[in-house]
Amino acid sequence: MLLEVLQFPDPCLREKASEIAPEEVTDELRELVENMLETMYDEPGIGLAATQVGVAKRLFVMDMEWTGEDGERSPRVLINPEIVEREAREISEEEGCLSVPDFKSDVERDARVVVRARDLDWELLEFDVTGLESYCFQHEIDHLDGILFIDRVSKLKRDLYVRRRKKQLRREQG
Ligand SMILES: [Zn+2]
Repeated sequence: MLLEVLQFPDPCLREKASEIAPEEVTDELRELVENMLETMYDEPGIGLAATQVGVAKRLFVMDMEWTGEDGERSPRVLINPEIVEREAREISEEEGCLSVPDFKSDVERDARVVVRARDLDWELLEFDVTGLESYCFQHEIDHLDGILFIDRVSKLKRDLYVRRRKKQLRREQG
């Protein structure tokens, strides 16, 4: 089932998601994950956090390798992801977000991160990543803390976007 991806300035995007306990990994949660994956591939996007579909739980899905409709899927599911090590700063180019329509920007990010998480079988996962992959982890973990990538750009850029977005919403509402 496709889920609605919430869009800025929906206040739910600002919620800090709560940790998932092992006993919360139920059929219902697995179904949520399935739906999140379906929604991510449909949009399409390379990552989707539960916060973006209105569920304030520390969980996100991603697939960095998918190349489009007929491409092979290598979905990752991360529960309670946590950055345990970070190194150096660099600029991610042209970052975008399914919840922030019509805006792309360079964003300052950690160059390398080590992320620990659980999968649906509660196995411990660890990723040591750089570049685009590392930015994706940081972007999704930000979502779980109620942070959007527009919070990490200059105030001027953000203000311009917010103004443009408000105008757009006014137009849509007629
Ligand atoms: Zn996003």
